[in-house]
Amino acid sequence: MSEASVEMKRISILGSTGSIGTQTLDVVRKYPDRFRVTALSCAGNIGLLEQQIREFRPLTAAVYDEKAANDLRVRTKDLDVRICSGMEGLIEITSQTEADIVVTAIVGMIGIVPTWEAIMAGRDIALANKETLVTAGHLIMDAAREKGVRILPVDSEHSAIFQALQGRADSKIRNLWITASGGPFRNMSAEELEKVTVKEALAHPTWQMGPKITIDSATMVNKGLEVMEARWLFDVTPDQIKVVIQPQSVIHSMVEYEDGSVIAQMGVSDMRIPIQYALTYPTHLPSPAKPLDFTALQKLDFATPRNEIFKGLPLAIEALKKGGSMPAVFNAANEWANARFREGLLRFPEIYDVISFSMSRHQILAHPSLQDILALQGEVERDCEHYGR
Ligand code: MG
Repeated sequence: MSEASVEMKRISILGSTGSIGTQTLDVVRKYPDRFRVTALSCAGNIGLLEQQIREFRPLTAAVYDEKAANDLRVRTKDLDVRICSGMEGLIEITSQTEADIVVTAIVGMIGIVPTWEAIMAGRDIALANKETLVTAGHLIMDAAREKGVRILPVDSEHSAIFQALQGRADSKIRNLWITASGGPFRNMSAEELEKVTVKEALAHPTWQMGPKITIDSATMVNKGLEVMEARWLFDVTPDQIKVVIQPQSVIHSMVEYEDGSVIAQMGVSDMRIPIQYALTYPTHLPSPAKPLDFTALQKLDFATPRNEIFKGLPLAIEALKKGGSMPAVFNAANEWANARFREGLLRFPEIYDVISFSMSRHQILAHPSLQDILALQGEVERDCEHYGR
């Protein structure tokens, strides 16, 4: 296909000032003839959002915080951009403003409703909001099928699996192998883990990410969330999903087929590769990322996750197997505990204790609706306040 015949893709970004959002704009910057940004949004970082509006000239921008939205209206008076706010604003940019694909680069359960509305409006999704599939995978995948919407994974592991599945629709999967760096503490003992600081937990060895997900990587909760996502995204059973530590973060995940062939996707740890693939699928195009140098790398290591110490993964698998509303409880309890740890109010291993505590107190709803799931977050948060009392 010649460059001239490529159709312009209109992109709306939910969460454009965060780590995934800014890297998405890096990709867009490289391909001004392919992509047009029609909507941007942030929670409250209007300084950066204003710069992005001036550079990319979207039709609409949403700021979750009402007061910050008002400030931004004043600051962008000279521009032809509509500024909206609150949850309505997020829904407006994912379902009302024109777009072919919505990048859901927002962290937390706040991303679920705007993603749902984007699917209802028939927009393809470049999915980076984990909570959407973790808590509502059963509803989201059905809705996407019904609306003919593509869910294109942005997370490096799911992008790797998605890439390894291309062109093999008739082949049966034996297992999915999700790789994990293991985070900064992967060799520590349980005693050492008691003493780790927030600063140490925020220093990830191979990936540059936002603070919430960096802590989730250190606890292995992030890997647990990824296992849950993979179950829905690729329609496999929990037992078909294996996790292996790959400390160099070079193999981003693998698909093992029935004949024993294993297809891996490799590359440098640069999120712009999977982000770009979600936007240019099914084509691989030149990327701003560095090439992978195998001669400098020399070796790849593998190890089994230490589930007895890093309980984020086994707790997630337990929640996934229990099913229904339990994954949403796992997720909400972790959100609460992750934030308390970052505030210095919990020790690192207590994150696991809070999740266990919350899961043990929950009465499972077998088929939770979107409303049930949203209501659960508040219920779980209130329940978590009883932890340690
Ligand atoms: Mg990941």
